[in-house]
Amino acid sequence: MVKVRHGKERKFGKGARYCRRCGRYGAMIQKYNIMLCRQCFREVAKKIGFRKFE
Ligand SMILES: [Zn+2]
Repeated sequence: MVKVRHGKERKFGKGARYCRRCGRYGAMIQKYNIMLCRQCFREVAKKIGFRKFE
């Protein structure tokens, strides 16, 4: 029975910053339209062979 979700869901603006991979909010990598948190970005970066990141 979940009628009300915590917070508001928005596609744009505040609240839209969440990891596409793990769904967590936090330190997001918004470069290159990746939309992932730092942890996931590191893993994805390995897969795609993206080494140049800090
Ligand atoms: Zn993540």
